[in-house]
Amino acid sequence: MDQGLEAAFRYVERLLFGDETRPGLTLYDLERLVGYPFKGEGPLAYTLPRRKGLEGVQAVRLYYYPKDPRLQLIVEIVDQKGEKHLRHFRWNGLSWEEPKGSGGELKGTEKRLGLIQVGEDYFLGFPREEAIELAQEVRRGTAYGAKYLLCPRCHTRLFYAPATPTQGISCPRCGNATLLYKALAGTKEAQDPLEALKEEVASLRKALEELSAYLRRKLGP
Ligand SMILES: [Zn+2]
Repeated sequence: MDQGLEAAFRYVERLLFGDETRPGLTLYDLERLVGYPFKGEGPLAYTLPRRKGLEGVQAVRLYYYPKDPRLQLIVEIVDQKGEKHLRHFRWNGLSWEEPKGSGGELKGTEKRLGLIQVGEDYFLGFPREEAIELAQEVRRGTAYGAKYLLCPRCHTRLFYAPATPTQGISCPRCGNATLLYKALAGTKEAQDPLEALKEEVASLRKALEELSAYLRRKLGP
């Protein structure tokens, strides 16, 4: 993992859990930072000012979800390449803890398992190039059978690679923990519009040949 990212994770860890010199961030502190409830019902965000320990990343943002009992805080660290590393937490009354099964551990996301956003969709467990390629196939309508989690609340789609564990994953946009398992339907033959057009042209040509042969027979040369 790159050093800047690692330093940022250590910074966030100290911020949330405290150290010998200062206590960790409380729910009340977080609410003051994001401006809850004055700025609305949320989700609300706060970007940490640039300071020592955060030079090696593009940004660190805290997202607060006051209405979600399972997930109240998402920490987003954007590394130098623009990739987002998300960590999920809930307040247990005393300190922050990781909601069951979700990634709260303050370590760098393995590249293989990173969450990548392309356009409106999220991709989990793909290298960036593959995620971009899959996103293009999704847009063209040729990503047959691609599996994804759908958030029924904000309609975010999260495509995941075959061997990727999907338990405990929350919607990266709204934090909703109840996601629906889906797959893009269709078969190659039926869905590839170019192939379908070629076949249509071929069968039309055959029909025309048959018709002209029939007419020649009927009407003579
Ligand atoms: Zn959502």
